[in-house]
Amino acid sequence: MTKNQLLELIQQLFSTCPGNTIAPEDALLPELSGARIFESPLVCVAAADDPLYIKLKDESVVGPWHMNPEEWLPGAKAVVSLFFPFTEIIKADQRKIPDRTSPAWLHGRIEGQSYLVSFTAALCDMLRRQGISCCAPCTDPRFQYVMSGETAFPGYPDKGEAVFGSNWSERHTAYISGLGTFGLSRGIITEKGMAGRLTSVIVDLPLEPTVRPYTGLYDYCIFCGVCALRCPVDAISEEDGKDHVPCGRRLAHSKKVYAPRYGCGSCQTSVPCESRNPSAKKN
Ligand code: SF4
Ligand code: SF4
Repeated sequence: MTKNQLLELIQQLFSTCPGNTIAPEDALLPELSGARIFESPLVCVAAADDPLYIKLKDESVVGPWHMNPEEWLPGAKAVVSLFFPFTEIIKADQRKIPDRTSPAWLHGRIEGQSYLVSFTAALCDMLRRQGISCCAPCTDPRFQYVMSGETAFPGYPDKGEAVFGSNWSERHTAYISGLGTFGLSRGIITEKGMAGRLTSVIVDLPLEPTVRPYTGLYDYCIFCGVCALRCPVDAISEEDGKDHVPCGRRLAHSKKVYAPRYGCGSCQTSVPCESRNPSAKKN
């Protein structure tokens, strides 16, 4: 399979895979019933042996628990990274009041993630039927993450301070693949902005990697500080970037308030990087 054939397969699957709408029985508001969650994805490819993956094992980047592509899939040759931008209806209401999470955003976070897991699993099934070995960390039973309160990553020594992260970082893979760079709020800014979700598939196909159109970690961020002003718990500052502790607490709190859903999209909406790359020159 060539890279172009893979891209075509992804776009076909996007138009046929069920779950990219809010089901009437799930809708938190009548006007959200049947609403589409994601626009079609941006897709980039990283080399599985990109030297940046080794750096992710550093404590100051992700941590030694981060598994590189070869550890997920022996014989891995490439990593396909996908960014699914949220539709306007998912973003619109969240722009208005930053200190609460809108019903549409909650659907984007929870039903949107369910769709992404289904989409990613379906993509893997299609690839395997064509004899291609693949692994999607987000659907793999080895995937682990810690989000709030824990002081140790499972299987690693207690650090005595809060630990955040996972053994596969979609954001770092997006950066390595050329999809976009980090912003002050630590989300990934793509050419279609930051408001959306990421997934990835590791394959044993020798796909040509995307040439990264940037060199710096924060090249697409204009450091306007609007995300810091939008954050209801002051978790972001222009001096120190993002503090995961208050953000993690807010997410944990949102699990109580919005159960069975949770989420917070205030630093991704009503910001210059919401739906575009703010550093790109306008023609
Ligand atoms: S809102 Fe401004 S400072 Fe924050 S991530 Fe976006 S571009 Fe960067
Ligand atoms: S997701 Fe975290 S950092 Fe962003 S606005 Fe919400 S609490 Fe603040």
